[in-house]
Amino acid sequence: MKLAEETIRRIEAHGPLPEPRAYEVWYTHLAGSNRSLSRALTEELAASPRLANLQIEKLYNQFLSPNRMAAQAEKASVGVLTEIDSVVGLIDEALGSTSRYGDSLEEISNVLDAKLDRNLVRDIVNRLVSVTQETVANNRALEGRLRETRGEVQDLRQALESIRTESLTDPLTTLANRKHLDATITHAVDHAALSGEPLTILMIDVDRFKDFNDTWGHLTGDQVLRLVAMSVKGSVRPNDTAARFGGEEFAVVLPQSSLKSGHIVAERIRQTVMGRELVKRSTGEALGRITISIGAASFAPGDNATLLIERADRCLLHAKRTGRNKTVCEDEIHGMQDVA
Ligand code: GH3
Ligand code: MG
Ligand code: MG
Repeated sequence: MKLAEETIRRIEAHGPLPEPRAYEVWYTHLAGSNRSLSRALTEELAASPRLANLQIEKLYNQFLSPNRMAAQAEKASVGVLTEIDSVVGLIDEALGSTSRYGDSLEEISNVLDAKLDRNLVRDIVNRLVSVTQETVANNRALEGRLRETRGEVQDLRQALESIRTESLTDPLTTLANRKHLDATITHAVDHAALSGEPLTILMIDVDRFKDFNDTWGHLTGDQVLRLVAMSVKGSVRPNDTAARFGGEEFAVVLPQSSLKSGHIVAERIRQTVMGRELVKRSTGEALGRITISIGAASFAPGDNATLLIERADRCLLHAKRTGRNKTVCEDEIHGMQDVA
């Protein structure tokens, strides 16, 4: 409610009208969940304290519209095609210029077969100099345009790269999103099956997070999710993948790791999270500590991504049922009935 009221207050103060898009833009900004949007909105406000419909529309399209990625990708692809056309044109031109130069040289060499006198030689040298100068000038111009095109292609490459990164990133925590995680696990499972190398995955769930939200509010809850995400990320190697599975659940893919070393990593993550004293940034209020539960499972022959996740999830459930704030590995629950 507080966030909703603040959103309306801001719309009253800065405009334009309390329409759904304006509401969504302001709400997202105040919730602090989209930094790029907040940055752009702050810039707009610095330029003028009243926002027009058009500005809201622009911010919405750029940062919130569900179609924005498709639109950006479309724009970048059109750009790529245009640049390819232009490169092909430049190559054609370069080939044309070289072959014209070749023709001129051939013509001159034909003349050379005839009898030579002083005037003819002077004439030939002059023509050689002139066609060579023309070709050099042409090549310079082509070179300049190729350089420009190269810059454009690099910009497009960056645009495509950032679209790709955004499409694989969870916006709240900046960890890998579910789509990225699924692809990573599938790939890791295939690799483990082929190479015989071990592979372990961890499923992580924040303990009693509903209570935390109920006590401190969703926005503070979001900050805690960011903190947990950073603790997870900070406890694994660059080759491992830390992801937000959804809600207050996280997953970690540990290639080339046995269940035993997965257990060590899980405990490191759990201790790190538990070791943090939470303080509300805006007020300095102490919020206590939170804990997490973790389930760990390792690749077994015949596994696929779904089976592996299911087993880790079953271990996580077991950790929850047996007291929370602990890591349960699949070798600890083999043969137990209450875990399905
Ligand atoms: P348990 O120890 O059994 O996991 O208890 P729990 O309260 O964490 O479990 P439950 O699944 O009942 O509640 C999960 C809560 O996580 C519910 C929801 O309020 C909160 N949550 C999920 N996603 C988000 C989010 O993106 N932000 C915030 N702040 N809270 C979230
Ligand atoms: Mg949960
Ligand atoms: Mg939970």
